[in-house]
Amino acid sequence: MNLETLTIVEARMALDAKEYSALELTNAYLEAIRAKDGDLPALPAGRHGGRQGIHAYLEVWEEVARAEAKRADERIARGESAPLTGIPVAVKDNMLIEGRIASAASKILENYVASYDATVITKLKQQGVVFLGRTNMDEFAMGSSTENSAFGATKNPHDTSRVPGGSSGGSAAAVSGGMALAALGSDTGGSIRQPAALCGSVGLKPTYGAVSRYGLIAMGSSLDQIGPITRSVSDSRIVFDAIRGRDPKDSTSIELAEHSKNKKLPVIGVLRRFSEHAEKDVLARFNETLKKLRASGYEVRDPVEASTLLDDSLAAYYIVMPAEASTNLARYDGIRCGLSVPAETIGDVYAKTRGEGFGPEVRRRILIGTFVLSAGYADAYYRRATAMREKIREDFVHTFANGVDVLVTPTTPSPAFTFGEKADSLAMYAADIFTVPVNLAGIPALSVPVGTVDREGKNLPVGFQIIAPHGGEETLFAVGADVEKV
Ligand code: GLN
Repeated sequence: MNLETLTIVEARMALDAKEYSALELTNAYLEAIRAKDGDLPALPAGRHGGRQGIHAYLEVWEEVARAEAKRADERIARGESAPLTGIPVAVKDNMLIEGRIASAASKILENYVASYDATVITKLKQQGVVFLGRTNMDEFAMGSSTENSAFGATKNPHDTSRVPGGSSGGSAAAVSGGMALAALGSDTGGSIRQPAALCGSVGLKPTYGAVSRYGLIAMGSSLDQIGPITRSVSDSRIVFDAIRGRDPKDSTSIELAEHSKNKKLPVIGVLRRFSEHAEKDVLARFNETLKKLRASGYEVRDPVEASTLLDDSLAAYYIVMPAEASTNLARYDGIRCGLSVPAETIGDVYAKTRGEGFGPEVRRRILIGTFVLSAGYADAYYRRATAMREKIREDFVHTFANGVDVLVTPTTPSPAFTFGEKADSLAMYAADIFTVPVNLAGIPALSVPVGTVDREGKNLPVGFQIIAPHGGEETLFAVGADVEKV
């Protein structure tokens, strides 16, 4: 087995044909992690930034993973395997697994042990998945490079002097580096699609509500969605099918309606003017893909009329998201859970715990969030941003109503950047220009790798983003599979 290229589809066939066991497969991944990811820390995970390896993982569950693999082998032997039985998967460090640490890569939750399973985990456990470990991320999913992790950054397997993207950078690096067959990420403004693009993997941000958020450490509750990072579009669909569905524990979750199978090829609309924000060679890969899709029979409308509001969606996002994040993070007070710094008064416990526990980017967003929600400013900022968000959502509905089935853009304006290159927060925020509108509108989008561009002699992957209307995942998988082929 070649772990750098193996897919879930291939592993499923091999496991069911008994070419190798789930235990052998798991051991192969554990060995790859040992070889590439740096020294494995002993439990419980402490600080281990600055390691030699990729550092995709914050913690690897070797023994438990082997036990899970053995159980999967028994199930396969009984002929009862589900699509993901015995498949080794990595989980972003913001999803709860009972009895294991989930830290959101923050000091404030460094030793927090989850007391229940997130719904996505329950669903994966039912299929008999093997959980390899928890992956590194930007603290509380705030960032686009994984540099905001309290435990040291993750490196891009394609060039270790560059970031893997973020905030699900550890998950993308694990998949791309042959250290997991698939991984779960979460996407609030691009955190699945952007790292997938920068690492050459496939990333799906599902329709808002399609996947339960129960047991996901919240960032912006009206924007967050869990989704898969995989090596192929078919694998993305397998994982999505395993985790989707209405969940009574998340009142915003929904059951997506079955899409009637449309025989005809979907019409592709190009957000041309918007896409021009990308660097020249990234745009060249994008245009080449469009050309090939046309040649294979697709109708490509280039350009489609689209609102100029798209260019301003970052402004709306960076008000709505910190507003929600500041509210969600209020629960980390040194009393309920996580870090608690002793002090004379309760007020000092709050202040000291939060001052020591949260990193600079998280503190920045709490400040912005509380400011835009405060009396006297909420009308000027928060309410205007939510009104703009509604307008962006309507604009997408309108564009799709005009006979276009999917919209496309590059996933990111540039390939992977170097560590420290975007130390200025605004430069970092701009990396999400193409991904953020999708979260504001609550619609699904898929990033598929489309070749590489050269930076200092290294071939760096770039992604092609396909956006569908609400509940349009099936269309994304269909077009995505063709993008993968052409
Ligand atoms: N990079 C964006 C941010 O920093 C998106 C993060 C995310 O999707 N979790 O907010």
